[in-house]
Amino acid sequence: MQNENNPAPNGFATLCIHGGEHRDVQGGIHTPLYNHSTFGFPSTKALLDVVDGLASGNLYTRYGMNPTIRATERKLALLEGGEGALVFSSGMAAEAAVFLAHCKTGDHIVCIGDVYGGTFELLQQNLPNLGIQTTFLLGNEIDRLSSVLTDRTRIVFFETPTNPTMEVIDIAAVVKIAKAAGVLTVVDNTFASPVNQSPLQLGADLVVQSTTKYLGGHSDLTGGVVIGPQEMLNVIWPWRKNLGQIMAPEVAFLLARSLRTLVVRVRQQNHNAQAVAQFLSKHPKVKQVNYPGLPTFAGHAVAAKQMRGFGGMISFVYDGDAAATAAVVDRLRLFTIAASLGGVESLVTQPITTTHHGLTAQERQQRGIVDGLVRLSIGLEEADDLIADLKQALG
Ligand code: PLP
Repeated sequence: MQNENNPAPNGFATLCIHGGEHRDVQGGIHTPLYNHSTFGFPSTKALLDVVDGLASGNLYTRYGMNPTIRATERKLALLEGGEGALVFSSGMAAEAAVFLAHCKTGDHIVCIGDVYGGTFELLQQNLPNLGIQTTFLLGNEIDRLSSVLTDRTRIVFFETPTNPTMEVIDIAAVVKIAKAAGVLTVVDNTFASPVNQSPLQLGADLVVQSTTKYLGGHSDLTGGVVIGPQEMLNVIWPWRKNLGQIMAPEVAFLLARSLRTLVVRVRQQNHNAQAVAQFLSKHPKVKQVNYPGLPTFAGHAVAAKQMRGFGGMISFVYDGDAAATAAVVDRLRLFTIAASLGGVESLVTQPITTTHHGLTAQERQQRGIVDGLVRLSIGLEEADDLIADLKQALG
């Protein structure tokens, strides 16, 4: 699916395969794994030229100055349509580096809509220790955004679609308000992936991703990335270096391997999720289905404007209490009960038990994270098999 409001970077599938690759003298078909922590120089002058930025070269892996890491960063930047990228040891490491690098004591962040529970904790519990406060707006409160921005607001942060209620936030609308106030817009594009959505093209300043999810795609790596203009990444780079948050070369190698199949995986996940969402929307025991691809879903119109596909994540509200909902989850056979998402295998979680376990009852209620809410990460199995499994579990 194309979207003229938010087209994919030119030749997107080709970029997944060839983008950023670097073949060494041995001619291996892809960028090799340079697992080394350090790199040798023929002379002191050659080393100093690299240290002083007068010559390009590899130096030390924690700095990100490693060919495998750099090749993966180039591919990620091309896929998100950004100037550059910095990879991290996890999605949380990437987010933390953005906040630490672009805010200081006394500064202020605005977070819109539901966010991953870890992000919420970082903003609500950890950053206040450093004197960085966050105002949380609900996803339907964008009209309040200008009134909560202060002269110390540095960042407006949000996910879209959001975790786990799949709310769709209008990226261009937020960017317009934030830009007018001189505030950075940072979008967590993990749920959509760059196959389905390009926030930088809609004016966002930085994109963060947990590469643990769709980009890795096989539930076998943990990583994160920040993508955007080099000037903004240059502010983040020393934080990554000195906090030691770099992605390991083995992980960068595995991630590049996974990115080569990103398009085919995510397009099939979009297709499977649409079929599953349609099935759920007709089931008598399902009170509500949250999926941007359903025309009846509140966020559908904005999603159709800014997304090229509606993604592989669905949540639904079961007509029962927490225990009855847990019983449905426990009856599923093909879906594995697990906290993550975006892999080739379908996963299920009851957000009150995992991702949003740390929230108070009031915080959950405000966000629609009810006891009967079930989140599905749709994988690459046959859609009919997934539907049959849900049918038997829902009874
Ligand atoms: N952003 C979103 C939307 C997530 O779902 C998660 C993790 O589940 C993260 C960020 C954090 O990523 P990681 O677990 O790689 O640190």
